[in-house]
Amino acid sequence: MPAHMLQEISGSYTTTTTITAPPPEGLQNGRQNLEKTAHHLEEDIRPEMKEDIYDPSYQDAKGPLPKLEYVWRNIILMALLHVGALYGITLVPSCKYHTWIWAYFCYVFSALGITAGAHRLWSHRTYKARLPLRVFLILANTMAFQNDVYEWARDHRAHHKFSDTHADPHNSRRGFFFSHVGWLLVRKHPAVKEKGALLDMSDLKAEKLVMFQRRYYIPGLLLMCFILPTLVPWYFWGETFQHSLFVATFLRYAVVLNATWLVNSAAHLYGYRPYDKNIQSRENILVSMGAVGEGFHNYHHAFPYDYSTSEYRWHINFTTFFIDCMAAIGLAYDRKKVSKASILARIKRTGDGSHKSS
Ligand SMILES: [Zn+2]
Ligand SMILES: [Zn+2]
Repeated sequence: MPAHMLQEISGSYTTTTTITAPPPEGLQNGRQNLEKTAHHLEEDIRPEMKEDIYDPSYQDAKGPLPKLEYVWRNIILMALLHVGALYGITLVPSCKYHTWIWAYFCYVFSALGITAGAHRLWSHRTYKARLPLRVFLILANTMAFQNDVYEWARDHRAHHKFSDTHADPHNSRRGFFFSHVGWLLVRKHPAVKEKGALLDMSDLKAEKLVMFQRRYYIPGLLLMCFILPTLVPWYFWGETFQHSLFVATFLRYAVVLNATWLVNSAAHLYGYRPYDKNIQSRENILVSMGAVGEGFHNYHHAFPYDYSTSEYRWHINFTTFFIDCMAAIGLAYDRKKVSKASILARIKRTGDGSHKSS
């Protein structure tokens, strides 16, 4: 790649400035206020959004968990999907190679609809996107079928604001299975509903494209997640209907779901915490590989407004590479990146000592 292009891609970040002296009220009111003040200073690079900033003042009420209410429709559909995906694995060797490429394309495309779309653009507002890119991402997101963007972002902002409490929809303190998929199979904890309803979602309500997806979500997902991925191999290169359905649709869909869910389960349970040892989320390289760049999860919870969801840029992070390419052709802009100095200050202040700079 020519040097000017690299410059173009890597240029034009909004970065933080480091403020080394803590403000006086932080000193007076102890660590919690200092934490809040630090968050406040770091979040200056994205003043338009506050709803994903961790709120340490929220604590779980004491007492037993309410009785689990199973959502049988979801349990049956998820079980059927996973049986279909397992059968799909047995069909992979006998697919036409075009079908492998197509299934892989659908995996990357729909994963970007979650990572670059629902996550980094719409939940966290870490960069801005022009209409053609937003249309691309909403189509990709609809193929991923993980609830519409509005609902995904509301759950995700609650996950950051009330991390690892009962108001976090996939509270990792309730174990691997619950934070992976179990949370989708039972009714939400009352705290999720209560706190989720108070989140400011006005930015998404005002975005016509997001509301359009929400309005036509059922026909949209049937077309993008199931019909289109199945018909393309069958129609264009004469793949059998069975291979198209079980490999390009069920297997691909289940892989993207599980890769995303691993961010909520594995990346909250296994890995180092170089940026903040006081939170549950962790750095997990394997998760990053599957979830196209979303496994640098201790960093991401420490700095939710960084468009790379990582201290680094293209290191095991296809989503950042994609956003940078979109920026190079003018479709993405205003990418928020935390300055190295702020990161190092945070590592020093709250890291677990595993960072190479420690
Ligand atoms: Zn996030
Ligand atoms: Zn998380």
